[in-house]
Amino acid sequence: MTTETEVLVLGAGPGGYTAAFRAADLGKQVTLVERYPVLGGVCLNVGCIPSKALLHMAELIYEAESCAGKGIDFGRPKIDLEKIRAWKMRVVKTLTTGLAGLARQRQVQVVQGTARFVSANEIAVEGPDGEQAIRFQHAIIAAGSRPVRLPGWPDDPRIMDSTGALALEEIPGSLLVVGGGVIGLEMACVYHALGAKVSVVELADQILPGVDKDLIRPLQQTIGKRYEDIWVGTRVTSVEAGRDGLEVRFEGGEAPETRTFDRILLSVGRRPNSDLLNLEAAGIGVDERGFIAVDDRMRTSVPHIHAIGDIVGNPMLAHKAVHEGKVAAEVICGEPSAFQALTIPAVAYTDPEVAWMGKSESELKEEGVEYDKAVFPWAASGRALSMGRREGLTKLLSDKKTGRILGAGIVGPHAGELIAEAVLALEMGADVEDLALTIHPHPTLSETLMFAAEMIDGSITDLYLGKKTS
Ligand code: FAD
Ligand code: NAD
Repeated sequence: MTTETEVLVLGAGPGGYTAAFRAADLGKQVTLVERYPVLGGVCLNVGCIPSKALLHMAELIYEAESCAGKGIDFGRPKIDLEKIRAWKMRVVKTLTTGLAGLARQRQVQVVQGTARFVSANEIAVEGPDGEQAIRFQHAIIAAGSRPVRLPGWPDDPRIMDSTGALALEEIPGSLLVVGGGVIGLEMACVYHALGAKVSVVELADQILPGVDKDLIRPLQQTIGKRYEDIWVGTRVTSVEAGRDGLEVRFEGGEAPETRTFDRILLSVGRRPNSDLLNLEAAGIGVDERGFIAVDDRMRTSVPHIHAIGDIVGNPMLAHKAVHEGKVAAEVICGEPSAFQALTIPAVAYTDPEVAWMGKSESELKEEGVEYDKAVFPWAASGRALSMGRREGLTKLLSDKKTGRILGAGIVGPHAGELIAEAVLALEMGADVEDLALTIHPHPTLSETLMFAAEMIDGSITDLYLGKKTS
């Protein structure tokens, strides 16, 4: 059977469903192809949402623990894994069911099956009821990414990727997290809060490589006390599956030569799914890492085929995929859209949270940009102190000549919510004076961004920085 469509969207993750809905809203006839029976992709089903549902549980546990010293002792938590899993699934199901409804309301035709290109105008879809061909005028590839696996590791159910870890089969006595990036650190937080002894091993010389070291420090200090070990600059050289555990050999850093763990989470990055789509048939090439090259209209080298989300490159984040999805759909519908965002914010939803946007301090140094910097310590924030969270900080970087905001980083609870103000400031071309003169509600954590701006423009009264000479 062959059907025809104006816009074909391949993959129903945040990039794909956003593109499909936007194109339909702009009047196109849209077909959305997804290999799984539910919409939502990695983010809704095995990524952002289930991980945040579990991290919320971790937050409650840590919060309750911290109350003991303040006069309320909730006692040891009783963990019912089956109920936690059921609750997480309910959150996911509410969202994925909602998406199916949104697709119906817009008359987006959803086809279940695995797609591959047959030519630059046709795909074949292998579904539960056999194969069908779909011819299209425009296509948007949004097929996402999957976890990287390391060669030579045994095939053992105790070695989990992020999907396995989110399934929460059990809380192991000991867990080794290989890769101290966002996935590794978020899942380490969940498993530790639920009772596992956690060790983290990271190849680079710091966890969350690429993030300024002063933003990492408060997280490092907190988890340094909670976890058994955090080994940086360390490589896993082999893993052997034994009856009583997984025997791991290490090289470099301060790790022992060998140690046995009950389970391992392998979280060393993700790779694009471009090798699964027979892209050659459409005449689309990929770079050496498998990413599809696109221009600022999200067009591939074949102009009527667009690509968005994880499959076009880093950072692999849902909000980037969503934004790109809108651009692609609008370009196809003749709108003058382009990807022109000045920054893509990032958040590690750890405890404490770490959020950053714009340029990092190390990038500014490398680029030789002259900048001003302020780091406002949350120990001087009434709101942070009343929450018992003095470890946080808010860092602001601005252009030395113009005062324009160039970058920001926030560490502490709700940092992921707070960073949005800095993103808006950057997009609007705001300078430190704009932030300093904006009245923020008191007492809030949001004030800390205003205080950091006041530190740069010399008007801070909540700290004493010495007399200004000029
Ligand atoms: P995906 O969500 O990967 O969707 C691609 C879809 O295409 C999938 O549904 C797949 O089944 C389908 N597909 C692939 N090949 C085919 C084919 N041949 N035929 C048919 N269908 C196909 N990002 C954040 O911004 N915030 C977070 O908090 C966050 N947390 C995360 C936590 C975890 C554990 C993980 C793994 C990721 C997390 N991410 C987070 C990253 C985020 O999930 C991705 O960046 C996002 O899902 C990418 O969206 P996408 O639309 O490009 O692709
Ligand atoms: P990542 O790239 O963030 O981190 C992987 C880490 O593993 C890096 O620190 C890397 O140096 C390290 N590493 C690589 N090889 C190693 C080895 N052999 N041994 C030890 N360490 C090694 O990747 P991830 O954590 O797997 O996440 C994948 C993607 O998902 C990321 O692009 C991330 O943006 C996205 N994600 C985002 C969020 C969020 O926004 N909160 C949450 C989860 C995932």
